[in-house]
Amino acid sequence: MNLPNCPKCNSEYVYEDGILLVCPECAYEWDPNEVAAAEEGLVVLDSNGTRLADGDTVTVIKDLKVKGAPKDIKQGTRVKNIRLVEGDHNIDCKIDGFGAMKLKSEFVKKI
Ligand SMILES: [Zn+2]
Repeated sequence: MNLPNCPKCNSEYVYEDGILLVCPECAYEWDPNEVAAAEEGLVVLDSNGTRLADGDTVTVIKDLKVKGAPKDIKQGTRVKNIRLVEGDHNIDCKIDGFGAMKLKSEFVKKI
């Protein structure tokens, strides 16, 4: 059987453990059947594990440094009308005073 690469770190050394697939490099374990279901729609979870959707409003839960910006995005900053995207920084948004920005969903909370 041809096993997929690890979805977290893209390792090729994934092995099967019962119904789960396990990555020896980053220790990620997942159910390949669940991944197949998730691929039908982008699943992005906030810091509480709440699923986010396009158009949601979130707040930033910690001060975030912004490359090239003179100031941080402050904890509690409201971000309206987010858009979910693939990748490490999985939220596309606009923040007052900063402009277009990408955030990690783990640093926000749905309002
Ligand atoms: Zn991995």
